[in-house]
Amino acid sequence: MDELTKTAPLANPACWLPFTANRAFLQQPRLLSRARGMYYWTPDERPILDGTAGLWCVNAGHCRPEISAAIAQQAAEMDFAPTFQIGHPLVFTLAKRLIQWMPPALNHVFFTNSGSESADTALKIARAYHFNRGEPERTLFIGREKAYHGVGFGGLSVGGLPRNKEAFGPLLEADFLPHTLDQSRNRFGQGLPEWGEDPALALGEIVRRHGAERIAAVIVEPVAGSAGVILPHRDYLRQLREACDTHGLLLIFDEVITGFGRLGTPFATDYFSVTPDLLTTAKGLTNAAVPMGAVFVSDAIYQSFMQGNDRGIELFHGYTYSGHPLACAAGLAALDIYEQEGLLTRGAELAPYFEKAIHSLHELPKVIDIRNIGMMAAIELESLPDAFGARGMAALQSAFDKGLLIRTTGDTIALSPPLIIQRDMIDEIADILHNVIGNLR
Ligand code: PMP
Repeated sequence: MDELTKTAPLANPACWLPFTANRAFLQQPRLLSRARGMYYWTPDERPILDGTAGLWCVNAGHCRPEISAAIAQQAAEMDFAPTFQIGHPLVFTLAKRLIQWMPPALNHVFFTNSGSESADTALKIARAYHFNRGEPERTLFIGREKAYHGVGFGGLSVGGLPRNKEAFGPLLEADFLPHTLDQSRNRFGQGLPEWGEDPALALGEIVRRHGAERIAAVIVEPVAGSAGVILPHRDYLRQLREACDTHGLLLIFDEVITGFGRLGTPFATDYFSVTPDLLTTAKGLTNAAVPMGAVFVSDAIYQSFMQGNDRGIELFHGYTYSGHPLACAAGLAALDIYEQEGLLTRGAELAPYFEKAIHSLHELPKVIDIRNIGMMAAIELESLPDAFGARGMAALQSAFDKGLLIRTTGDTIALSPPLIIQRDMIDEIADILHNVIGNLR
């Protein structure tokens, strides 16, 4: 990168950064300009260990040459092809490869470009499914408190983070299951909590309130990521699946974070042995080299769309870039790496070491909870009085200064390193965090 590109942009900033305190950022910018493997580098060539796989997405590590080469080759061969009433071979090849990693029932894929689009697509498919079956009044969605399903109006409506929603109403009609953070019983618990509330009770109450015949679907992240790694208890998802079946409700898993090996299994559906009716993903699908998302759909739902006598368009929905050739090429190359290097299950081998390292921060002052599963973890810090998020931001800055990329949400530090990480780098993450947290005000 030349000198001008490195330094010029901030001199006269035109870019409005997402989910960022832009004014504060410009006072103290943090820039990354190159990446390889487990590391980023700043424009002045300072290495930054990637503790968050970018944004929970670069699971095979950065700038994998196989992926870059596949993208370059595809860009030269066919840059773009529409997938409306037309197709290209890669989109079929990728779909076929992907469903091999899914439970057998989830055997069709609708491509999107992001996790947000995947959430909105899944919600729309759920509504259209009921509409086609002659139940158009099934429009209500059930989300969960503290959930994050992206920023489209659909995902926002079923999301459970109040700050994300407050300025954007009115939203779609939704009701909410309680979140699963139980700090009275599970604080500093390692791995999955043994017990907690049965979601069937809460869902039963919601169904009584609205009537099952009004409900389109229930959507949850198997493990809530963005809110700070909030774990369900061991039986929660099974109980939720059973309750959905009892009331005849579709169940959607949002696996944008938990997909592609994050929990030490290919998907959370494997970890929990629970199969939803629809499953959304994005991020790790292309190792984040090209934006891409996907919605996996059960055979029953797919077939219901295909069975009409009319041979016209079955679902009036899609994106210009659904199944973009470059994204497909990146996805196929990423899958090759995941499979060849066993990355979709490597997290299971690393998780005990990671867990021990992260929980070694337990005794530090200001640490009020630590949660982990597979290769994701959260360290919750006590908030400063009247300054929620300030300590988290200070931790982010201090870690960045000390050569570690973390993610913070409020005053909670989230970790989700690339799945190629070595044990000594896990130690390094813990050491830097020890120093960072130990020196926080
Ligand atoms: N769902 C979940 C569970 C996510 O974690 C995210 C992103 N962190 C999204 C949806 C939205 O994905 P995107 O930012 O790609 O739209």
